[in-house]
This record gives sequence, C-alpha cells and structure tokens, in this order.
Amino acid sequence: SLSDRLEGAFKSLKGEGRITELNIATTVKEIRRALVDADVNYKIAKEFTDKVKDKATGEKVINAISPSQLMVKIVKDELVELMGNEAASFNAKGAPAVILIAGLQGSGKTTFSGKLANYLKKQLRLSPILVAADVYRPAAMEQLRVLGEQIGVDVHLELENKNPVEIAQNAINEARSKNKNVVIIDTAGRLAIDEAMMTEVANIKAAVNPQEILFVVDSMTGQDAVNTAKAFNDRLDFSGVVLTKLDGDTRGGAALSIKYTVDKPIKFISSGEKMDTLDVFYPERMAQRILGMGDITTLVEKAQAQFDEEQAKKLEKKIRKNQFDFADFKQQLEQIKRMGNLKDLMAMIPGVGKAMKDIDISDDAFKGVEAIINSMTPFERANPDEIDGGRRKRIANGCGKDISEVNAFMKQFEQMREMMKMMNKMPMGRMMPGMKR
Ligand code: GDP
Ligand code: MG
Repeated sequence: SLSDRLEGAFKSLKGEGRITELNIATTVKEIRRALVDADVNYKIAKEFTDKVKDKATGEKVINAISPSQLMVKIVKDELVELMGNEAASFNAKGAPAVILIAGLQGSGKTTFSGKLANYLKKQLRLSPILVAADVYRPAAMEQLRVLGEQIGVDVHLELENKNPVEIAQNAINEARSKNKNVVIIDTAGRLAIDEAMMTEVANIKAAVNPQEILFVVDSMTGQDAVNTAKAFNDRLDFSGVVLTKLDGDTRGGAALSIKYTVDKPIKFISSGEKMDTLDVFYPERMAQRILGMGDITTLVEKAQAQFDEEQAKKLEKKIRKNQFDFADFKQQLEQIKRMGNLKDLMAMIPGVGKAMKDIDISDDAFKGVEAIINSMTPFERANPDEIDGGRRKRIANGCGKDISEVNAFMKQFEQMREMMKMMNKMPMGRMMPGMKR
C-alpha cells in the first residue's frame, strides 16, 4: 500500500526532526507513483503532489512518529479536502422529484437505478418509481422490471414506445396520479461517447427538468473515466457522480481524478450486484481507501498526545527545580485552549464538575493574561524575578492594560510559584494537573 511504500522511501530519514525539501523530493515521486497505481490520472497526481510538497515543507515531525507517517497524514488530509470534505447533499424532494441517470453502457446505470430506488424507499421512506427509458434493448427493460419486482418498486414500462422523452413524461404523469414522490429515469448508454446518445439524454433533460442528474461511471475504467466524465458534464452539466464497481480492491483513484476534472461532487458509491450495497460517498473513507492505509490518522493523533505527555514531564522537572516561568505558563495556557474551553476542563476535575455547573467562566479570562505575557520579552518570560517596575510599565503599555492589572497578575503568578514550591516538598507525583482527557 501507499503507506508501506512511503515507509520505505523515508527509511533514510530516521531521526530527522523535520520534513525538508530534500527528503520530500524523494518521497513525492513515490506518492505520485502510488496514486497513479490507484488509478489517479498522472497530470492530476503531479499537481496534487506539488501541493502536498508545499504543505509538507518544514512540518515538524513529532517524536513518536516517523516523517513518513506524518507525510501520509498530510497526503490524506489533502485528499479529503480535494474530494470535498463532507458528504454532498442529495435532493430527492419534489412533487415528484425527477432523477436522471446517465452514463456509458455497462457502467452500471440500471443496477444503480435499482439500488437508488431501494435506498430511497428503505432509508428515506420515499415512494419512488423506476422508468425504463433505454428503448433500444428489450433486455434492458426486462432487467429493470426484474429489479423493481425484487425491491417492491413500480417500474414504468412502454414496450412499444421508441421515444424516451415521451416515456419519461408519461412516467411523471403516472407518478403524480399514483402519489409517488420520486421518479428515477434509467437511460440508454452506448459503448463509447457518441452524439446520438448525448442528444437523447439532453432531450430528456430539457423535457423533464430533473433536480438531480447523476453520472454513473465504472471505477475500474481508470483513465477513461475522466474523459467520459468530462464529455458528459460538458453536455449535461450533471449534479453528481456515482462510482460503481468499487468491489474488492478497486482503489478508487477515479474518484479523485473525476472530482478534480469536473469539480462535481461524488454522491454515491456502489459495489456488488446486490440491491443493498449502495453507499453515500464520504471523502474521508475514500481517502483512506486510495491510500490503502489503516489508521495512520489515529496513530498521528496518539503521537500528538504522547508529545503533550513529554512536554508535561519536562514541565514537571522545571517545577521541581523551581524554574517555572512565563514561557511555561503560556505553553500551559495554549494546551488548555487546545483542550477546549475552560469550563469543560474544570468540569473534568473530580468533585469540581458539579460545583462549577452554574458558574460562568469565560475563556476571555485567559485572553487578558495571554496579552500580558505576549508583551513580555523572551528574557522577561524566562526570568520572572527580573521584571521590575519599569518593565511592568512597559508591559502594561504594550498590551494596553492598566499597570495595576499587570501587578495583580504578577502577584498571582508569584503565589502560584510559592504553592508549587510547597507542593514540591510533598511526596507527590505530578502536581500540575494532567490536563489530559
Ligand atoms: P448499464 O448498462 O449502465 O445499465 O449497466 P448495468 O447496470 O446493466 O450493469 C452492467 C453489468 O455490471 C451488469 O452485469 C451488472 O450486474 C454489473 N454491475 C453493475 N454495478 C456493479 C457493481 O457495483 N459491482 C459489480 N461487481 N458489478 C456491477
Ligand atoms: Mg442499463
């Protein structure tokens, strides 16, 4: 998988603390090759890795993870962003809602139409009907009729009518009279893009004004999928993509290429021939699939937690030596902020939660303190005892606070340090609260 390959490519990097331009160059090539192997179009893979290169340069590697793992996470995050972050909306509301299905022959339109009807009926509690608008192959009509029977959904069939536009319009009328609220029109495809097919689908579109036009594409067709998607989109301006035949180990790179090329959301993915194997498209899951990675993300997150742990240990040592300073204080504040808000944090301390319930603590309380520390020079942060009256005045001016506020904070800080000193003499492990969930 891609993550394994990156691991290999980064072997020489063990021990380096930062991702550098030099070590990126070697791995970017590897990522690109892996993406192409996962069916991502070469040009797109290149553009993509160039972007990743920019993002990754200079990223600091957290102790517990390797540069390769961090790199994989960067790649994954970028993939997710590219594919649209969240599942796209699907609009099946209308009186009735009309959904037009288009794509090449064999891409899986008829199978998908059945799956979609089943999904709308079972998951969304709608009442769909299916329309057989593929008038050229009697077998195609029969196929839809059988699927409809299987899932208990009506199929609108006109065996003698050779006009798909008329069939579609008649079906909508039938839906109205039967109180059906979704009409799914399964159209004819051809083996390759051709003008007659495009004109036919465009005519149906013009006549029925569908609120969703779904372009169905076989994810195993790799590079061709992109060209097909482009041709259909130029002509139909479809609203979403359906990736079919994502069975077994098809890697789904087509998802990335198509999204990149036509910039339309992928709405569903489909695998297998059973009627209940239709899924809403989630970018996060697809990114993991393209990368062939297990739980790198969790690993990186765990490493992050461990990193915090190490910081806490360092802090403890400083406290023990009575060297706790403003820089440490600021770091603590930052950690608290990362944890969420102050009230939530307090509530996690045993026994405190209930008592704090009705008290309003605002996170603004931190802001004042932070502003004061921000106005200190590095020297002052490291040497709290050296901050005399003159320096306090300058700090106060710097952060736009009254000198009395600075004095009050300095006093509190002193008290805190006194308390720390006292606690040091007690046989206790860590006295700074763990500040971890
Ligand atoms: P259409 O010509 O676009 O209507 O395509 P069909 O729905 O008739 O599908 C063509 C072939 O692909 C049929 O044999 C289907 O059973 C098969 N098929 C469709 N969708 C999938 C899928 O998601 N996975 C697999 N493995 N086969 C599929
Ligand atoms: Mg068909």
